[in-house]
Amino acid sequence: MPIHSDEEGYLDRECPAQECQFGFKILEEDWRDKVRDEKVFCPFCGHTAQSDKWYTPEQVEAVKKAGVAQLQGRINAAMKHDAEQWNRRQSPNSFLRMTMKVNSRPQQVSLPPMAAEPMRMKITCPACACRYAVIGAAFFCPACGHNAADLMFTQSINGIRNALDALPGVRAAISDRDIAETTVRLIIENGLQNAITAFQRYAEVLYATRYPSLSVPRRNVFQSLSEGSSLWHLASGKQYSDYLTTAELSALTKYFQQRHLLAHRDGLVDADYITRSGDSAYREGQRLVVRDASVRECLTFIEKLASSMAS
Ligand SMILES: [Zn+2]
Ligand SMILES: [Zn+2]
Repeated sequence: MPIHSDEEGYLDRECPAQECQFGFKILEEDWRDKVRDEKVFCPFCGHTAQSDKWYTPEQVEAVKKAGVAQLQGRINAAMKHDAEQWNRRQSPNSFLRMTMKVNSRPQQVSLPPMAAEPMRMKITCPACACRYAVIGAAFFCPACGHNAADLMFTQSINGIRNALDALPGVRAAISDRDIAETTVRLIIENGLQNAITAFQRYAEVLYATRYPSLSVPRRNVFQSLSEGSSLWHLASGKQYSDYLTTAELSALTKYFQQRHLLAHRDGLVDADYITRSGDSAYREGQRLVVRDASVRECLTFIEKLASSMAS
């Protein structure tokens, strides 16, 4: 049974991992030529499975229907054949004559399912050139499993920005004021934490690929701006202050410390925060207030730092 690709030549696929079920598309010719039968990677979760495990539920359903129709056709043909034999065995001269007739319903023809709409975000793997398409974020190439750190970083940063852009819509869509404000606050605070995590992951991969001969650094070293900067300085001869202005670096220092408070102190300011961040706007025991604009500023500086490190 043929499975149709969409108008741009992409096939629909779905991750077979129960928790994931991520839907994506892959160019039909790359599915044929680049993907190995024994191992396909989910672009979203990285799960691997044989190439025959990636049909979408719609495709499986259509294949089942086609199978049933095919079987029905064969049963009908066999019954007709039996009936003809039976009829032939009847003596034309007997007093009582019986004939058998098989009424077969017309055979069902099921069509292969329509391919889903083309997806906007198309990706070409920098390692193997496999072309695939997703909605939202993708981290792995389905053919070779390559994890493009820069792609992942850009996507995370854009994702946070898009979530911030959607805040007025979130406020308008939730009628309960308390729930609306809590949701908005969570999106903003998560945005700050995710921005710094994205930078940390990116810096780790960059460090590991640029300086493979150096010893593996302490876990989470890039979660701290000062430690990350010292490590980078030892390896590359440059520190963060070579890439950012003093004002940018001190703002980023504050945001990194705020991330720590959100992650480990439920946002409650302690003495360490005040010392390390140099933020005089708070007293010990206060609750941090993070604004949408602060997260955007943090994203800008993080992008600047990351691209300077990369180049
Ligand atoms: Zn998956
Ligand atoms: Zn690849």
